[in-house]
This record gives sequence, structure tokens and C-alpha cells, in this order.
Amino acid sequence: MIHAVCQLQAVLGPESGLVLVGGAVRDRLLGREGGDWDLASALMPEVVTTRAKMAGLKVFPTGIQHGTVTVLVEGHPFEITTFRGDGDYLDGRHPVSVRLGVALEEDLARRDFTINAMALPVEAVESPDWQDRIVDPFHGKDDLEARLVRAVGNPLQRFAEDGLRPLRACRFAAQLDFSVEEGTLLAVPERLEVARMVAMERVFVELTKLLKGVAADRGLALLERSGLLGLWLPELLPLIGLDQGRHHRLDAWHHTQAVAMAVPPEVPLRWAALLHDCGKPACRTVDEAGNVHFYGHEAQSLIVAEAVLQRLRSSRALFSEVLALVRHHGNHPTPEWSDGACRRLLRRLEEDRLPLETWGAFRLGDQRGKGWGDEACVPQHQALMDRLRQLAQARPPLSPKALALDGRTLMALLGRSGGPWLGELQAHLLEKLMEEPERNTAEGLETWVREWAKEAWSPPV
Ligand code: ATP
Ligand code: MG
Repeated sequence: MIHAVCQLQAVLGPESGLVLVGGAVRDRLLGREGGDWDLASALMPEVVTTRAKMAGLKVFPTGIQHGTVTVLVEGHPFEITTFRGDGDYLDGRHPVSVRLGVALEEDLARRDFTINAMALPVEAVESPDWQDRIVDPFHGKDDLEARLVRAVGNPLQRFAEDGLRPLRACRFAAQLDFSVEEGTLLAVPERLEVARMVAMERVFVELTKLLKGVAADRGLALLERSGLLGLWLPELLPLIGLDQGRHHRLDAWHHTQAVAMAVPPEVPLRWAALLHDCGKPACRTVDEAGNVHFYGHEAQSLIVAEAVLQRLRSSRALFSEVLALVRHHGNHPTPEWSDGACRRLLRRLEEDRLPLETWGAFRLGDQRGKGWGDEACVPQHQALMDRLRQLAQARPPLSPKALALDGRTLMALLGRSGGPWLGELQAHLLEKLMEEPERNTAEGLETWVREWAKEAWSPPV
């Protein structure tokens, strides 16, 4: 990467003022690797394009109206944006105009947070004193040190320009485990009307990054405190303070945060953590002995989660996986369960295409998130998973496709053409096989088929 970026500097020439900006500088100071390297330059996009092409490099006009081109160097795509100032913002989303060719300081001033408003000249990237060569007019280095997300300039004004910034503040706090500086945080509730105008797709992207963060719980608490939760996820508000009875140490909202932290940082698991109990408020009952129950909350959570994900324009694939996790989070197999009952669980997971391991990872997170702080649930969980894995490895038939007699053979055997009966028969066979999977052979099934036909089709007495 460093070699490629120096190569680019050689191609564009010393007067290009090429600098590394934004997240790349922040992450380098933090010793975080892996993000993309955004670059900025004093050159106009047309000049960048011409010089890069003359050097035989591939160039893509990614966002030419905002001054951005992408140049491919040694297989790495680099976005190069001409130093720019933003004109007025009228719609809470986009500046009406951009001015290219401004000074680097003005380019940095339009950026959202001080930790994202630093630039490192490419010529200094490899120098031993690179940290001192950083252009840092808003003291981003100090805020990095203090672990603070602070708006560049006046937060009320910056959040009036672009309604996504408040959510980005919470997202960076969750990703970096930082606090949001008090003035910046206090400006958020004042600007909710601007935030309301942001496209759901962009909200979804930022929420997903927040949920994946090392401090997702912190991000969620910030959403609550700043009023953003009520704006984009109002269905979750009733979880706050919802008492869950004596089996839980935490209220439903803190449990939600704890589960988000306890499941691996994979997008479907984190979204499922956020939404899995959102049906609880509507299902809460207290019995005569004072015990709290949430009967049927999985089904209710499913309805709410569906509405939330649709509103936020989640992709189809993520939608299905999250809903499957929500649907099946209430299955609590115990050592007393029969093998048959365990296979039925495997079958339900198969029907929803939910891999056993994914379900298991969520289940463990849900248990850990009860907040008792002990890890007693881990060995029990491992034992359960070992048992389920073993049963799954024997490849029991879990769908009609896996039956030893296919639909055609069943029709021939009973001398009937297809109809709803076929599905009923297949479901019946599968159900019987849950107890005796070894009978999934042509001969083994045939007896059951005939018995079923006799029962189902004999004239009523
Ligand atoms: P990530 O690691 O998520 O890529 P990043 O800081 O690079 O973090 P991007 O969304 O890629 O974040 O944005 C790149 C840079 O552009 C930011 O560091 C910031 O300087 C600037 N920026 C991005 N979005 C905004 C915004 N809405 N308002 C102001 N500046 C922004
Ligand atoms: Mg980036």
C-alpha cells in the first residue's frame, strides 16, 4: 500500500500536494490496519486523470462532480478528491455546490469530526517523524489521545448541514470505544429534524457499522441518550427499563446491549441481537406468584423486526438471516430433550436455512447477555452443541428432498396423481423419521406409506 501511494505521488508530481486524509490518518495513529486510504490533492480532477493515464494507470471518474476520481495503482483503488469546500446545505444531506481548488485547511474544515480532519502529506508517510508532519488544524491528535469524538467547528451548525453526522458520531464511538464530546452530544437532540431527512439506506449503513463496533453497547446507549433511537428505532424504546423478572439481572434494553456485545461481530448476529426481544414489551405478563413471563414474544419480535428491517431497506439476504435468528432464539434445548426433539430443532433450522453454528453462536450470546457475569452457561452450551453436531453429522433426513422415496415413487406406490396429499404424506414421514432416522430406506418407508394411506383415505365409519 505504501509503495503504491508513493508511486502515485511520483506520477502526480510534487505540486499535487497529495495527502492521506480522514480515516486513514486516524487509523494509522491508532495502529489500526485495514481501512481504505483516501487521498486528497490540490490538482483538479481532470489533471489527476490526464497524468495518471499518461503513466499508464487506470482511472475511473467515481464522483467527478464532487472532484473525486479513483486511480488503480498496483491493484489498489485509491480515491483522490480535489481539496474542496462545501457550499450551503439546504436539504440536510448535500451541499448545493462544492468549490474545488481551495486550500487544504478549508478541505479539512468541511470534515465531520476532528479525528477525521487530519492530513498526512504522502511524502512524509515513510518518514520516522510522520506523526509530527500531520496537518491538524482542529487538534484531532489531542482528541484521539483523549478518546473523544468532537465535531469540527460548531456542532449545531455542522449537524444542521448534514443529518447523518450525529449518527456517525455514535458509530465512531462504537467502533473506537470513544466518548462523544459533551457539546457535540448535546447538539444532537437539537437537530433531530435534520437527521429525520436522511435516506434510510445511509442510516442502515451507519447503524450496521455501529452494531459491528467493539463497543456496540456504547453506541446503542448514545443513540438512546441523544434521541436518535426514538427517531429511527422507536420500536425499541419500550425495552428501556423493562423489568424481566428474577431470571434476568438486566432490563430488556441493557440485555439487548449485552447480547450485542456477546455475539461475534458479524452483521446478522448483531442485528438479531438488537431486535430479538423487541416483541417483549407487548407480551409481558406477571402471574399470581409475581413471576414475569413473555409468552409468544418470539413471534411478536418477528413482526416488529420485519417492520424495522423493511423500513431501513435491509438487503433480502440479511433480512432472512436476521428473522431466522429471531424466530429461533426461543428454542432452549436441555439435556432431557430426546434425540428426536433435537432432530426436530435441526429440521426447523434447516427449513429456515439457518446454519446450526450461527444459531449456536446467537444462543450463547443470548445466555451470556443475561448479565450474571458468570460463564457457567458456556460448558452447558458446548455440551449441547456437541450433541446437536453429532446428530447432524449422521445426516438425518431434514427435508422432503432427503426422503428415500421421492414424490414420483410415492405417487406410483399409491397409484395417485399429485395433490396436497403428497406434501402431507411427506411431512408425516419426516416427522416419523425424527424418532427413527435409520428407517429412511425404500422398504423402511413403504410400510409407513401404506399405513398412512389406509388411515387418511379409508372411508369414515
Ligand atoms: P471508515 O473506516 O468507516 O471508512 P472513514 O473515516 O474513512 O471511516 P468514511 O465514511 O469513509 O469514513 O469517510 C471518509 C472521510 O470523509 C471521513 O474521515 C471524513 O473526513 C469525511 N466525511 C465522510 N462523511 C462525512 C460527512 N457526512 N460529513 C463530513 N465529513 C465526512
Ligand atoms: Mg473510509
